[in-house]
Amino acid sequence: MVKKEKETATKLKKELEEAKAELALRSKKKKLSVKTKPKNKEAKKKIEAKKKEAKKKIEAKKKEAKKKIEAKKKEAKKKIEAKKKAAKKKIEAKKKEAKKKADAKKKEEEAKKKEEEAKKKEEEAKKKEEEAKRTYEEELEEQLTEEEITGFQIDKTDMDKLVNRVCEMIAGYETKGILQNILWRKLKLSSRDGSRLALKLERMGMITREKILENGRWTYLLLIKKIPISTKSIENAPCLVCPVEGKCSTDGEISPKTCQYIEDWVLAELKTKKT
Ligand code: SF4
Repeated sequence: MVKKEKETATKLKKELEEAKAELALRSKKKKLSVKTKPKNKEAKKKIEAKKKEAKKKIEAKKKEAKKKIEAKKKEAKKKIEAKKKAAKKKIEAKKKEAKKKADAKKKEEEAKKKEEEAKKKEEEAKKKEEEAKRTYEEELEEQLTEEEITGFQIDKTDMDKLVNRVCEMIAGYETKGILQNILWRKLKLSSRDGSRLALKLERMGMITREKILENGRWTYLLLIKKIPISTKSIENAPCLVCPVEGKCSTDGEISPKTCQYIEDWVLAELKTKKT
């Protein structure tokens, strides 16, 4: 039993020592921890400060970079805007130029059109003037054939007699001539027949026609070209009833040069004219 008590005491002692040692250790640790804590805080502060500094620097760099990017963006935008403006200006200038050209072309075309219209009007006026100048006879000459002109006849009229009469009347006016409308009135011929007759006489080479403006109207002055032989003058000629007319010739034995009938007839005619 004593032994047991001794063992327990030893055990307790040991345990006590161990507890003391642990306590001392804890105390030491505590002391150590109290000493290191401030150091850690400072380091931490430093680290935090460094971190802050670094963060600040990064932020500043970021800001700088951002600023640069923004500036570049602005610059690029400006350049684009300037380019756009320049392009727009060019387009506007081109548009203006094109419009100018189109306007000039339009004006030119209008002037041309006006000129053409004026020319057309002038031509029309000329045509009208020419038409106004055109006579019924000119129209007839266009419409009728030469045969129709030279073969013109008036119903129930001896055309040879009429031709001679008309020519004798025109010849009476010698070189002065006579206006065709006056002549037709004297002959009581319609202007339609008179105009055709004048054309016929001209084609026959008996008269000439001179186009003249009389009281604002175009008409013709008729002038004699060839005086027709009057049948009246040979009405009593002996040759018409001569029994030897078949044997008579200018170089023959029986000839007008030596014919007594002719001589008598000429003398009688002269006598008649004198009286
Ligand atoms: S010229 Fe004398 S002959 Fe001769 S035809 Fe006349 S009338 Fe007769």
